Amino acid sequence: MLGLMMDAPLRIPDILEHAAKYYPKTEIVSRNEDSTLHRYGYADAARRARQLAKALSRMGLERGDRIATLAWNNHRHFELYYAVPGAGLVCHTVNPRLFPEQLVFILNDAQDRYLFSDVAFARLVAGVAPYAKSLRGIVFNCDRDHMPKDLPDGLPPVLCYEDLIDAEDDDFEWPVLDERTASGMCYTSGTTGNPKGVLYSHRSTVLHAMAVNQPGLFGIAPDETVLPVVPMFHVNAWCVPYAAALVGARLVLPGPRLDGPGLLEVIHGEKVTIGAGVPTIWLNLVNYADQAGQSVAPMNRVVVGGAACPQTLIERLAAHKALAVHAWGMTETSPLGAVSVLSAEQQYLPEAEKMKLMLKQGRAPFGIEMRIAGPDGKELPWDGVARGDLEVRGPWIASGYFNNTDRSQFTGDGWFKTGDISTIDADGFMNIVDRSKDVIKSGGEWISSIELENLAMGHPSVLEAAVIARADSRWSERPRYIIVLREGKMLTGPELRAFIAPHVATWWIPEDMIIVTELPHGATGKVLKVDLRARYGAENHPDAIRLSDQ
Ligand code: ADP
Repeated sequence: MLGLMMDAPLRIPDILEHAAKYYPKTEIVSRNEDSTLHRYGYADAARRARQLAKALSRMGLERGDRIATLAWNNHRHFELYYAVPGAGLVCHTVNPRLFPEQLVFILNDAQDRYLFSDVAFARLVAGVAPYAKSLRGIVFNCDRDHMPKDLPDGLPPVLCYEDLIDAEDDDFEWPVLDERTASGMCYTSGTTGNPKGVLYSHRSTVLHAMAVNQPGLFGIAPDETVLPVVPMFHVNAWCVPYAAALVGARLVLPGPRLDGPGLLEVIHGEKVTIGAGVPTIWLNLVNYADQAGQSVAPMNRVVVGGAACPQTLIERLAAHKALAVHAWGMTETSPLGAVSVLSAEQQYLPEAEKMKLMLKQGRAPFGIEMRIAGPDGKELPWDGVARGDLEVRGPWIASGYFNNTDRSQFTGDGWFKTGDISTIDADGFMNIVDRSKDVIKSGGEWISSIELENLAMGHPSVLEAAVIARADSRWSERPRYIIVLREGKMLTGPELRAFIAPHVATWWIPEDMIIVTELPHGATGKVLKVDLRARYGAENHPDAIRLSDQ
């Protein structure tokens, strides 16, 4: 017998319409390229999204066609987030930090019909658009006065965003769509081969937005102001533009200025209470705030993910009375897969024990299942010790890749293989020890680069630390530190050794370190270990400094 309940499909534009109806004046504040601020309410955003959807429906597109965006976190990108899927099309966010060759590959693989770009990326667009064979037009996200000048010949027709909007009224009914209809697309960063397209649906996105908002997870409340620093071109800015609107929270879109001063300015000026972004962003912010003798208040919660959250960041944010919420996920998981959230009884643990839990990536939220598997594919115990390949499944986890028949990342029984190596303890706390391609296997035993990095980053002279596997004639691989020092600081090998030695087994301690001026970061802010290994992975590197005197 079926229940007698209405069967309403979960649709993305309904989120915005809800915010427009119940929080019409609540602001979306967006920083323009010239640093001025644009403000309007949810009702204005919904009206313009309807106008844009109407314009899109006149552009000769078919349901399911892909529309690419190349844009910072700003109000027009926000409108595209709703108008494109709402019109039955797929919003394909493209990462402008990728190399032009990768962009061309992605635009062709996705077969994008139109490209909506910020003016800041005009040169990049001019370079790649002639090679993107399926493009019928380029729309610059600006008004007539700001359209880029001197574009080369040979581009598809160039249109102006505000002209498209001005030509329409907002009398538009969002089409009724099956909730499983494709809504958004994001390519993996391609650190493990060619980038692959992940295709989200209306259903997966709405469910994920609801899950993200649970108390204890991101827990965004209507009376809060949220700052997604994580770019809208990367995994839907962790769904914050949807999750905030779902509860009518105030949204601050920081545009291109993501450095310490740029962020602190909007945090103070717009009274941000919660932020979301990768550890490097927050480390830069607290460094700047501390140097300037300022506080990050009123921001009191910071979602940290995309890479392991170092202990020093949790402590330094706590000194500002801000809680670090450590989360794990990936493009294929929408991204929320796990959050380090303490249970009632864990609240009363000694501080050092609580810190150990906060450093882990945490528990799966309802909806996601996790397991770890050994090399033979058999499930491993949840004892906090056994390390295996992390596998997940759930309604917002990818079930395949766009235009790609490769099933190597999926198990026979339908789980997604994340490529991360982790443990899970008896309380369900998952802890990533490495990505499988970064793993250091020394004498047949695994050493966790994340744990070693975390320790080194606690040293007052260290700004950033990465650990890579270097070749070793005896152990096949040994860990090596690549260190960036804080301005004006020094560090000797024995000093670093003494600092980490009390915390790890002796055989884990790297024999050497290399000091560099900066670490290479990829398009999504992660340290490019592949590059580091290529550059510094030789056994006897001339720049290696020994950690012990002998
Ligand atoms: P890509 O996989 O293409 O680099 P993603 O942004 O999807 O791009 O990256 C997901 C990966 O980032 C995860 O598989 C994991 O290795 C890493 N990651 C994300 N969050 C965390 C975290 N909290 N701790 C450790 N690693 C993390």
